[in-house]
Formats: sequence, structure tokens, C-alpha cells
Amino acid sequence: MTNEERRQLVEIIHSEIEKLQAKADTLKDFTGPISPDDAIGRISRMDAINNKSVFDASLRNIETRLDQLSQIKQIVQNQDYGICIQCHQSIPFERLKLRPEIRLCANCLRR
Ligand SMILES: [Zn+2]
Repeated sequence: MTNEERRQLVEIIHSEIEKLQAKADTLKDFTGPISPDDAIGRISRMDAINNKSVFDASLRNIETRLDQLSQIKQIVQNQDYGICIQCHQSIPFERLKLRPEIRLCANCLRR
């Protein structure tokens, strides 16, 4: 991997983290506890609970991805970043641009 490629990846990781954090903040507004007074009638309360579980699930996904990205942020400067941790082939830059957190090449991932 060239220095320029590494620099680009660092930028991608940072902007991705910012985007996800903004998304998580928005979702947190929706995932507070539902009080019975919030909803009028049983149906809308059930709606609120359904929506809440959808929001909770996407918030969990975002938080998992944020964890992965902040780990990658620590290791992106290492010499062995971008190299498959199983077969030690380099992972194509185009793939890393899409998913900077991947540690396996396409072949090993399929196995
Ligand atoms: Zn591999």
C-alpha cells in the first residue's frame, strides 16, 4: 500500500466515523423509554414500541461498526494493515476503501 492510499483510507475512516456518530445521535432521540402517556390508545403505543425496536437494532449496528472503525483507526498506520491476517496476501485497495475494517481477503472471507 502506498502512503497516498493509506492517507486516503485514514480520511475515509474519519469521515465514516463522523457520519455514523451523527446518525447514532439522531437515533438516540428516538430510542428513549416510551411512556404510556406518549401514545394515544393501544395501537399507537404498539407502533411506538415497534419503531423503537427498529431504532434500537439500527443503533446497535451503528455502534458495532463504530467500534470496528475505531479499532481500525489504531492500526491503519501499521505496516501489516491491508494484508490478509490469514493468508498474508494484500487486500485490494478498492475493497479497503469500501470496507476499511476488513482484515481478510475475499478468498479467506469465503472460507
Ligand atoms: Zn486471505
